[in-house]
Amino acid sequence: MIVASTGMVADLVRAVAGDRADVSALMGEGVDPHLYKPTRSDIARLMRADAVFINGLLLEGKMTDAFARMRDSGKPVVAVGDALPQDRLLSPPGFEGAHDPHVWMDAGLWAQALPAVRDAVTKLDPAGADLYARNADAYAAKLVDLDAYARRVLASIPANARVLVTAHDAFNYLGRAYGIEVRGIQGISTESEAGLKAIEELVALLADRGIPAVFPETSVSDRNVHALVEGAAARGHAVALGGALFSDAMGAPGTYEGTYLGMIDLNVTTIARALGGEAPASGFQGKLTLAQR
Ligand SMILES: [Zn+2]
Repeated sequence: MIVASTGMVADLVRAVAGDRADVSALMGEGVDPHLYKPTRSDIARLMRADAVFINGLLLEGKMTDAFARMRDSGKPVVAVGDALPQDRLLSPPGFEGAHDPHVWMDAGLWAQALPAVRDAVTKLDPAGADLYARNADAYAAKLVDLDAYARRVLASIPANARVLVTAHDAFNYLGRAYGIEVRGIQGISTESEAGLKAIEELVALLADRGIPAVFPETSVSDRNVHALVEGAAARGHAVALGGALFSDAMGAPGTYEGTYLGMIDLNVTTIARALGGEAPASGFQGKLTLAQR
């Protein structure tokens, strides 16, 4: 049994392990990993697991010590973020000395975690080595396609509207990968409170540049995003509330948006359409149902 912290990490491990492992995530739909505290039953599940996969880079802020203790006790704890090329990690202002943990937002970067996942799963179950290698390669090819789709639809947004304003700073990797300016109301972690000044500055940016939409996130309160819409309206600039993005958690289990591919597809398709770009409502592989959201 393998236990992952977030749904995104569980999805990555599942893509490699296939049917040979029981993979589950501690944090489900709508859960904020920055604030998540493990329950007693979570700790018991982690203790029973053959291996634990986490995002790392301090994303799971309240669980960092628990993971360190497990590693000290000899349990394999694999941090996907640590497996990525360190020179590809961002350290934005206000987050000096640490890396931005939201690495899944760049599909091409996320794919670079696959070799480490494959190797870790193979070490647990050497008999599955061939399958794990094939699965990792097949999934890498899907991520390459998703990355190309994201690049194409986001490139169709008009130059003046290439600004993504969201509830918190989860989208820096998306911004770098696909050439979009990214502004979060809250900082890298949702633990920081958004100041009135930050909201006023963003309202001015929206009005000055004529940005057409801002985006709530499924795992963060949308109070601040509504404040932006109202603030811009008071200045005579109508800003639409774009569809809710999946920042730090995926959609419901069993749905397309409850997979990593569906999560990123929904995000980039929603952003492109709301900011005046072109993207099919059915998304990257025709599986998206934006109309129902
Ligand atoms: Zn976050």
